[in-house]
Amino acid sequence: MSLRIVVCVKYVPDATGDRHFAEDLTTDRDAVDGLLSELDEYAVEQALQIADGVDDAEITVLTVGPEDAKDALRKALSMGADKAVHVEDDDLHGTDALGTSLVLTKAIEKIGYDLVVCGMASTDGTMGILPAILAERLGVPQVTLLSEVGVADGKVTGRRDGDTASEQLEAALPAVVSVTDQSGEARYPSFKGIMAAKKKPVESWDLEDLDLEAGEVGLAGAWTAVQDATERPARTAGTVVKDEGEGGKQLAEFLAGQKFI
Ligand SMILES: Cc1cc2nc3c(=O)[nH]c(=O)nc-3n(C[C@H](O)[C@H](O)[C@H](O)COP(=O)(O)OP(=O)(O)OC[C@H]3O[C@@H](n4cnc5c(N)ncnc54)[C@H](O)[C@@H]3O)c2cc1C
Repeated sequence: MSLRIVVCVKYVPDATGDRHFAEDLTTDRDAVDGLLSELDEYAVEQALQIADGVDDAEITVLTVGPEDAKDALRKALSMGADKAVHVEDDDLHGTDALGTSLVLTKAIEKIGYDLVVCGMASTDGTMGILPAILAERLGVPQVTLLSEVGVADGKVTGRRDGDTASEQLEAALPAVVSVTDQSGEARYPSFKGIMAAKKKPVESWDLEDLDLEAGEVGLAGAWTAVQDATERPARTAGTVVKDEGEGGKQLAEFLAGQKFI
């Protein structure tokens, strides 16, 4: 059986860095280093495990992002993916979730796919909405938030763990899945993998390659707009309650004063 897997991976600003908005209220991506979204490493891992059990599988990692987003693709390639596609265009600046999903959809259709694997959410936007929009746009089933996933007999199956029950789900391929951080530790790239990744193909596409107009994406095409943003206030020193017999009372008064109780 042959299986074409596309894994959507996002290049995100490093959460440990000092992040700011730019003047146009978009994220200032130049001011902070980026990396492959940690939650997308789980998606790459699951794709690799699925491909392991198939005779003829090919994994393409796909990102929509700035020039440096190639770093995220290289990491996924060094984990073991076969090839990469990078969609980059100046007109993507300010693209919101609907725009990003449109670009990803066009790219996935152009690559060709049986299975699309996403992370459960990006570690910056954290909307967790892209997989569902992708499935809708592609016109295929979505099986999201899986902590276990497998492919057999033209179907994708998986387990979604909820608060009160675990659901066993399946859908006919082609389909879109998203996997959680409970799906299994993502492997570290080996030295051999890192060296091999340098020779793996990375294609770069712009909007024209995907038959998209600038006005369909970017700030101009966005359905959402950030109206205002203010810096988070600096942390102030905490309140220390010393227990000299009245500690419990003081604690309760403090919590009541803050309206916690
Ligand atoms: C060049 C650029 C400029 C942007 N500018 C803005 C802006 O000005 N304002 C704004 O609100 N947002 C902006 N974004 C963010 C973009 O809109 C978000 O990526 C999108 O809304 C998805 O939301 P999320 O990150 O919460 O994804 P989620 O829905 O949380 O992501 C779920 C999964 O979808 C996949 N995925 C998500 N994003 C990508 C991606 N870019 N490439 C590949 N796979 C992906 C991953 O598998 C991820 O785990 C920009 C993005 C890019 C690439």
